[in-house]
Amino acid sequence: MQAEIIAIGTELVLGATVDTNSAYLARRLATVGVGVQRITLVGDEHATIVAAVREALTRAPLVICSGGLGPTADDLTREAIAAATNRPLVFHQTLLDAIAARFAALGRPMSPSNRQQAYVPQDAIIIHNPHGTAPAFVVEHEGRLVAALPGVPQELQFLMDQALLPLLRERLGLHEVLLVREVQVSGMSEAQAGERIADLMAGANPVVGISAKRGRYTIRIAARAADEGAARALIEPVLATIAARFQGNLLDQESLEQRVGRRLLEHGARLALIESDPAIPVLRALSEVDGRQALALALVRPDLVPTADYAATARAEAERLLAESRSTIALVALVEPGAATLRQAAVALATHERAEPIVVTRGIDFGLPDAHAFVATLALDLLRRQLEPVEPAT
Ligand code: ATP
Ligand code: MG
Repeated sequence: MQAEIIAIGTELVLGATVDTNSAYLARRLATVGVGVQRITLVGDEHATIVAAVREALTRAPLVICSGGLGPTADDLTREAIAAATNRPLVFHQTLLDAIAARFAALGRPMSPSNRQQAYVPQDAIIIHNPHGTAPAFVVEHEGRLVAALPGVPQELQFLMDQALLPLLRERLGLHEVLLVREVQVSGMSEAQAGERIADLMAGANPVVGISAKRGRYTIRIAARAADEGAARALIEPVLATIAARFQGNLLDQESLEQRVGRRLLEHGARLALIESDPAIPVLRALSEVDGRQALALALVRPDLVPTADYAATARAEAERLLAESRSTIALVALVEPGAATLRQAAVALATHERAEPIVVTRGIDFGLPDAHAFVATLALDLLRRQLEPVEPAT
């Protein structure tokens, strides 16, 4: 089943508030097998909201609105949904009593404008809101459902989980489960990783996708099925295919730093590390995992400013570090220290077994702190490749 979400609020279309409610609703709908085909943001304007609700109803059997249920003049969702579904608003004394009781319990006077929150579209299913004054509601219109939830994120989340989702399961017979498995991959570009699973990404169930952050990639496998066992059975073969294709570059559930820490211990390695800027989080990452014992020496060297040749500087420092420290692996991560924007990075790794250090350089075109995290990923992945049998570094 497909749904649409309409997030209502002028603060949203002004960009003053980021619409997190829609993301929450979409994630929750996915768990019952409902896909969201469109999310619309509209300001607090009656005609615009009415049009948005009407249009969404022509496309989707389920429309969920967020916001605009408050007591002020710009809270128009009740009126707009009533108009879009051709029905009047109806006053409910029980709702007004509940609102009055809430104010009494809080020891605050109720203002006359709260009275409008006791109105809901005719024949709506009312969802009481124990965390706020505005009740939520669901209107059935020509075999389709329009739900209205309050805009305050905590209230919306509570009512979605406790009331609306169970109601939708029941009314729409949503008995599917969505099972999601995420695995981490490392050591290649997003494009390369994507190419290896292009055929899998074309599948409908499970849905396979990839997302990138700071040089780390997460492959997401999502299967819909009647129960968890059946969903698992859809995911397992895809996971096996991914494991075969990525081999050593598949980190699975382990993070990159956990993997590196584990391998350092297994190898009985002694690591010496130089970072040219304390903001490169290699040391921080490694000091938080099992395997930190392997860190024999860590230096921050902001004086190591490479002039033109980052690669040559990183190589020379890695060689010197290996020679002068009692370590088995020397790792150097080099950026311009203290720079507001990074343009280049070099990472070098030296071991006694190698005649020459391995050096990786990268041009960078994104800002801090992501750029620093990206350099750390580059360094950690170089280290990982040294410690496990994978394809040679490129
Ligand atoms: P209330 O009954 O509490 O008045 P409401 O339904 O009228 O709620 P709004 O007035 O639209 O909700 O918003 C209340 C608060 O929730 C505001 O702080 C607003 O910024 C925030 N909010 C509204 N919509 C969203 C959204 N889509 N994502 C995140 N925050 C939101
Ligand atoms: Mg509002």
